[in-house]
Amino acid sequence: MSATSRSKQATPEQAELIKYWNEKLEGSDPETILRWAIKTYAPKLTMGTALGSSGCVILSILARIETKIPVFNLDTGYQFPETLELLERIRLKYGIEIVRRSAKLSVAEYEAIHDGPLYRIDSDRCCYDRKICVLESIAPDYDAWISGLRRDQGPTRANTPVVGWDARFGLVKIAPLALWTNKDVWNTIVTESIPYNVLFDRGYKSIGCAPCTRPTLPDEDERAGRWSGQLKTECGLHQVNESLTTAQL
Ligand code: SF4
Repeated sequence: MSATSRSKQATPEQAELIKYWNEKLEGSDPETILRWAIKTYAPKLTMGTALGSSGCVILSILARIETKIPVFNLDTGYQFPETLELLERIRLKYGIEIVRRSAKLSVAEYEAIHDGPLYRIDSDRCCYDRKICVLESIAPDYDAWISGLRRDQGPTRANTPVVGWDARFGLVKIAPLALWTNKDVWNTIVTESIPYNVLFDRGYKSIGCAPCTRPTLPDEDERAGRWSGQLKTECGLHQVNESLTTAQL
């Protein structure tokens, strides 16, 4: 299988509804957006999170309004121990079970067939096998998914709609914090004592898999520590160009 996915287009009716709600919810607070998402799509609504700062804020809001939305973490087998430990702290504080979803092959099996870690020589393929394929297997069970994307996270995310169409997975994609800034997120985390990944206290600004993430310097972009030294800036889960973006809606 090639490291690409089929594009799944929205029907004209879906596109029209998405356009309507995206315009209507632009500027709404995250809780309003999440309440709309739950009312519209549950039980066919899920959330994916790598336990970044935005994801933790969204989970804290869900804890106030609905703790039964299925939440998954794409567990590549290469995540930091600190990330896995945060799953448990979220569960204890909010009663939200984040289900770890993994590729069929363990890391040991995967590396055995590739003569070592693939992330060193083909990170696109590694992301595809360890993340994209897993979400492709989850997506058919749902109509919509919630993500922690924000427009201020960099050029690839600058057009993130509040409500868009995720052509890669054939799902409506909802970004309740699309209009928030990094400062908004951290003010909320501090004010509301929301659990967060302790790696943020050690110089990391964005946290993915351990081999592909480094701490950032104070003046570097939020995602500069991801796949540092490569042209790659996204794992492929969030190809905003493939979705109905704010520019297209
Ligand atoms: S971020 Fe790195 S280790 Fe994780 S799936 Fe992608 S290439 Fe593999």
